[in-house]
Amino acid sequence: MAISFVENAVARRGLMLVISSPSGAGKSTIARLLLEDRDMDLSLSVSVTTRQRRASEIEGIHYHFKSVREFERLRDSDALIEWAEVHSNYYGTLRETAENALADGRDMLFDIDWQGAEQLQAKMPADVVSIFILPPTMKELQMRLNRRAEDTAEVIETRLNNARFEIQKWSKYDYIVINEDLNQSYAAVKSIVMAERLRRDRRPGLFEFVNGLLEEQPS
Ligand code: GDP
Ligand code: ADP
Ligand code: 5GP
Repeated sequence: MAISFVENAVARRGLMLVISSPSGAGKSTIARLLLEDRDMDLSLSVSVTTRQRRASEIEGIHYHFKSVREFERLRDSDALIEWAEVHSNYYGTLRETAENALADGRDMLFDIDWQGAEQLQAKMPADVVSIFILPPTMKELQMRLNRRAEDTAEVIETRLNNARFEIQKWSKYDYIVINEDLNQSYAAVKSIVMAERLRRDRRPGLFEFVNGLLEEQPS
C-alpha cells in the first residue's frame, strides 16, 4: 500500500524485502501471495540459477535458468550483486534489476538463501528488511516437501539434510514467522511490510508535509 499521496513530491528509495527459509517451509507460497496482492505493490527480483527448471516454473518469471558456464560469466563480470551455492546449484541476484528498482523507489522482494541475505545486508544495511520463515515442525517440513512433489526423492533428502543447518541462521534476521497457518503467516508478513514502509527514516517527504502542516492557518 502506498504511503499517503501528500508525500509523493520527494523521492524515496525502495526497500529490499528479503525472505529466506529452509526448503519447504512456505517461502515461495508467501512470496507469491505478496506479489499477487495489488495493495502490496512489490516486484520480484528474478534470480539466475543453474538448477533444473521444475515443471511448474516459467523461464524469466520464476528464475532465469542458465548453464554453469553462463552463470560463471555473469558472476565474473560483476553482474551479480550477490551469489551463493545452495543445494549443489548456483543462485544469484542480478545487480542491475536490484539497483534500478531501489533508485526508482520500487520495493523489491528477494527470495534468497541465508548466504545471499548476509551479502545484501552487508552491502545495503539501510535498505534490507529480512524475514525468516520457519516450519512448525520438522515432520511437517518433510510432509510439505513430499506434497509439493516437484523434486526427486534424492533432492528432497538433500534439502531436508540442509534444513537443520539453514534453520540455525534464524537469529540473523529482523523478523521470524512460524508458518503453521498460511493465512496467519501471510497477514504477519504483510504487516511487517506495511510497518517498514511507515518508518520515519524511509519517508523523506515527511519534512515537506510537516512544514506544510505548520504553515496552514486555522480558519
Ligand atoms: P525452495 O527452497 O523450494 O524455494 O527452492 P529453490 O530451488 O527455489 O531455492 C533454493 C535456495 O536458493 C533457497 O534457499 C533460495 O532462497 C536460494 N536462492 C534462490 N535464489 C537465490 C539468489 O539469487 N541468491 C541466493 N544467494 N540464493 C538464492
Ligand atoms: P519453499 O519455497 O519454502 O521451499 P513452498 O512455498 O514451495 O516452500 O511450500 C512447500 C509446500 O508446502 C507447498 O506445497 C505449499 O503449498 C505448502 N505450504 C506452504 N505453506 C503451508 C502451510 N502454512 N500449511 C500447509 N502447507 C503449506
Ligand atoms: P529452489 O531451488 O527451491 O527454487 O531454491 C532453493 C533456495 O535457493 C531457496 O532457499 C531460495 O531462496 C534460494 N535462492 C533462490 N534464488 C536465489 C538467489 O538469487 N540468491 C540466493 N542467495 N539464493 C537464492
